[in-house]
Amino acid sequence: MSDGTGLGDGQPGAGPYDRRMADSRAPLDDRAVPPARAVPPARGDELLRGLGAYVSASRPEFERRLAELVGIPGVSADPARAADIARTAEHAVTLLRDAGLSARIVATAGNPVVVGEHQAGADRPTVTIYNHLDVQPADRQEWHTEPFRLTIAGDRYNGRGSTDDKGPALTALQAAQFAVGREWPVNIRFVWELEEEIGSPNFEAFVRAELPRLATDVVLVSDSIWIAADRPAIDYGLRGLVTFEVTVTTGRNDTHSGLTGGPARNPLTELAGIIAECVDPVTGRVLVPGFADAVAPVTDAELDGFVASGFDVETFMAAHGLTSLRTTDVREVVRRIMAEPTFEVHGLTGGYTGPGVKTVVPPRATAKLSARIVPHQNPQVVFGLIRDFITARHPDAHVELEAAMPPYLGPHTGPYADAAADAVEYAFGRRPAFVREGGSIGAVLTMDEYLKAPVILLGLSLPSHGYHAPNEHYDWTQAAGGIRMFAHYLAHLATRTGQVGQAG
Ligand SMILES: [Zn+2]
Repeated sequence: MSDGTGLGDGQPGAGPYDRRMADSRAPLDDRAVPPARAVPPARGDELLRGLGAYVSASRPEFERRLAELVGIPGVSADPARAADIARTAEHAVTLLRDAGLSARIVATAGNPVVVGEHQAGADRPTVTIYNHLDVQPADRQEWHTEPFRLTIAGDRYNGRGSTDDKGPALTALQAAQFAVGREWPVNIRFVWELEEEIGSPNFEAFVRAELPRLATDVVLVSDSIWIAADRPAIDYGLRGLVTFEVTVTTGRNDTHSGLTGGPARNPLTELAGIIAECVDPVTGRVLVPGFADAVAPVTDAELDGFVASGFDVETFMAAHGLTSLRTTDVREVVRRIMAEPTFEVHGLTGGYTGPGVKTVVPPRATAKLSARIVPHQNPQVVFGLIRDFITARHPDAHVELEAAMPPYLGPHTGPYADAAADAVEYAFGRRPAFVREGGSIGAVLTMDEYLKAPVILLGLSLPSHGYHAPNEHYDWTQAAGGIRMFAHYLAHLATRTGQVGQAG
């Protein structure tokens, strides 16, 4: 399958990597942090010599490893698959050790976390590479191939977890194997989670318990999707999320509207009014006073980057089955997904919902609601504003918080962003677009909070790969480019003298 990157199959001479190696002796861009000593231990281009041949030669090994992992149906949402989660962890240890790293399984109250390490020395920079190896469920009926058996069709790798997130994990491992085999002076740590698909319920406890052993200069997360196949994208922000329920109670039981209608208060009608006071139903603008006060304004340069990602409104609508939008202006669409908060109604319950009409006045109605929030909104503050706004006007309304997750904003300029962009350009021949993700990734927030290191989202999946969908797949073009990308990033760190400094 061609994804339009035009990089061929990773044969030497096929990609921009090889042209650069042949034509240029320029050292890797080292703007990130000036070296502490005048002479670095090795130059990036020297370290990367032979990478093209290595990538080509790795293909059978990569495919074997991917087949082994895809063959273990570690569905974290299915309690009956607990043994497969354990097998996934054990096999992950084998893979890490085969690649020359040490590995251990760290137990949690839920599924374990697998940690792999290559230690080059306490004075060397450390990179932590996060992926998850648990997968979504798969319904065999909806698949053209066996979901838990890797089937290879040309460049295409079909199988549950192939792109989310086993393929990207093994891509990074293949790059680390190149670095470890050549004893590059960089500390490499893998953190492979096994319950990302169920919301990472024990990841924070894992990080807290292991904190002394998780010190790192930078974290790379490869679990995100480019916006368009021909344009690499780096996510530098995530929206946060506040979920809550509003319940209005006006009686004890259903009554007949012929007997009570008129004087009886209708909780469904009142709830509809409450919602309309909170959000303009047509524009989506949130009307709760103070709600957007903390929103960091997005700059024109950021918006340019969002649009440059290759975002296309028609493709977006088709991909999600949307027949109309609040706006079709591409700049406004990406702004709203990537940098603006929302107030959504997910469900309304109460009254009679069976066939026909039953003329009850219900005693109670509940709305299931959420707000996506953006930097620098605080989930607790946002919830408090919404709750107080509603209850001040409707003392009978009960507003209950369900879950709260803060937004994330990482670097999109400065040394860390530059190093990531250089690695992407080297691997895929194009400078990446810096975009933000409309959703949330709990593990990113946890690592940001506790590890106090910049988290860079170096995703490799394409929109066509079918994240969480039937017939999920990955492909060799993304894997081969990804090995070059991670190798370049590792070489960038390995050519550093001393520790990586603070983010710019
Ligand atoms: Zn994932």
